[in-house]
Amino acid sequence: MSDYDFDVGIIGGGPAGAAMGAYLAKAGVSCCILERELFPREHVGESLVPSSTRIFKDLDFLPEMEAHRFPRKYGATWTSSPAVRPYAMNWDGLDPDCRADIRFDEREQPGVEQNYTYHVDRGEFDLAFLQHANKLGAEVYEGVDVTGVVLGDAPEIRYRFGRGERSARVRMIVDASGRRTVLGSQLKLKVKDPLFDQYAVHTWFEGFDRGDGPAAENIHIHFLPLVNSWVWQIPIRDGVTSVGVVTQRKNFLGSKESREAFFWSCVRSREDLAARLERARQVRPFKEEADYSYAITEFTGDGFMMIGDAARFVDPIFSTGVSIALNSARFASRDVAAALEQGDLSKASFGTYDRTMRLGIKNWYDFISVYYRLNVLFTHFVQNPKYRLDVLKLLQGDVYDVAQPPVLDLMRAKVREVEQTPGHMWHRVLGDLTANAFTDAV
Ligand SMILES: Cc1cc2nc3c(=O)[nH]c(=O)nc-3n(C[C@H](O)[C@H](O)[C@H](O)COP(=O)(O)OP(=O)(O)OC[C@H]3O[C@@H](n4cnc5c(N)ncnc54)[C@H](O)[C@@H]3O)c2cc1C
Repeated sequence: MSDYDFDVGIIGGGPAGAAMGAYLAKAGVSCCILERELFPREHVGESLVPSSTRIFKDLDFLPEMEAHRFPRKYGATWTSSPAVRPYAMNWDGLDPDCRADIRFDEREQPGVEQNYTYHVDRGEFDLAFLQHANKLGAEVYEGVDVTGVVLGDAPEIRYRFGRGERSARVRMIVDASGRRTVLGSQLKLKVKDPLFDQYAVHTWFEGFDRGDGPAAENIHIHFLPLVNSWVWQIPIRDGVTSVGVVTQRKNFLGSKESREAFFWSCVRSREDLAARLERARQVRPFKEEADYSYAITEFTGDGFMMIGDAARFVDPIFSTGVSIALNSARFASRDVAAALEQGDLSKASFGTYDRTMRLGIKNWYDFISVYYRLNVLFTHFVQNPKYRLDVLKLLQGDVYDVAQPPVLDLMRAKVREVEQTPGHMWHRVLGDLTANAFTDAV
């Protein structure tokens, strides 16, 4: 009898855990996924970026994505209040209609044959993807709440199932428990992001007028005329739209309003948006997310690794979360399969994953930091034909191949110039989140 129940035990069956289970099962590795909830369950994070498509293709999941008829996402749109001066004044070439649109098909993306990605109802998507991992050979157990792990020569995952406390013996552990960060918390490796202390309140509306034309099905990011604040608009299915307000947590804590009143007072800072939302019908209770940005200082070690949100969470402004979850599983699974074959499950065997993940997340983080510091600059670069495709590459989620993409260097240099020039026309619209305070910690 083997000393182990499975080669790999995966904690969590969200996109990261399901992708990891699917990749490992395809590679012939025995693995189990232990998930505390019974799927389907609701989850924030509904709009994907096209780098997710490579993973669906690798795992033969694209036909199923199509069968579910998730809304197709061909691009993204940013809008701003006509009252925000840099746009109203058409300063430095910014489009006076306060709007920027991108389409994914403007840049050919290696390994991605379709010109769209998807918006997903996460309850439906996560269930289908987890079932797919199961079909490929990963053993899936739901309603299993992992309470801790034992590392060392005989790793174990301890869990609660019904009234019983049990454990599974595995050769290595992959933590994909999302923002609960089971392993990162147990090992005290979690560091709160001092820069991004954002807060989100969100719900679904029926009958919301998303606008006309092909861009109506884009994700819309509506800048609010409040510092570091924006609204997402994501099509979920015919007639249903997810809408969320993201702002700094201190704005909510200081407001003394209920989360519903706070949502509406933020939305009303954009009269055009508020008028359309007030005509729609809310079909889900409000939910909130707070304190969600953090790093895990070491996300690989002897006999373990963390993937997806369990390894790191960056602000969701560019719809990055699911793509990072899927891509982290893609890179991590290669190291795990090779390490099992070599019989060496020490940290050194997970170096490629560690480096690739750090590089990709640093690129996302730098992009997001620059955006928050000076969001007119983002619109300016998107609208400039010289930089448009470089920005688009980032927005498509292709962030894992180059350290320091030149376009990010240029953006940072521009931010520095504006910071140091009080008379610069953009100086007064600098956000109060300073860029790059945190990336060196990870
Ligand atoms: C406000 C906000 C908006 C966002 N918008 C977007 C967006 O538009 N697009 C996007 O791509 N991403 C978005 N995200 C991010 C996205 O939600 C996550 O990045 C994504 O879900 C990560 O997938 P994951 O598999 O790592 O974690 P999860 O999806 O959280 O999955 C983790 C799973 O682990 C399970 N689990 C937890 N603890 C245990 C335990 N002890 N035992 C067993 N199982 C456990 C959970 O039940 C869960 O099913 C957003 C996030 C926030 C906060």
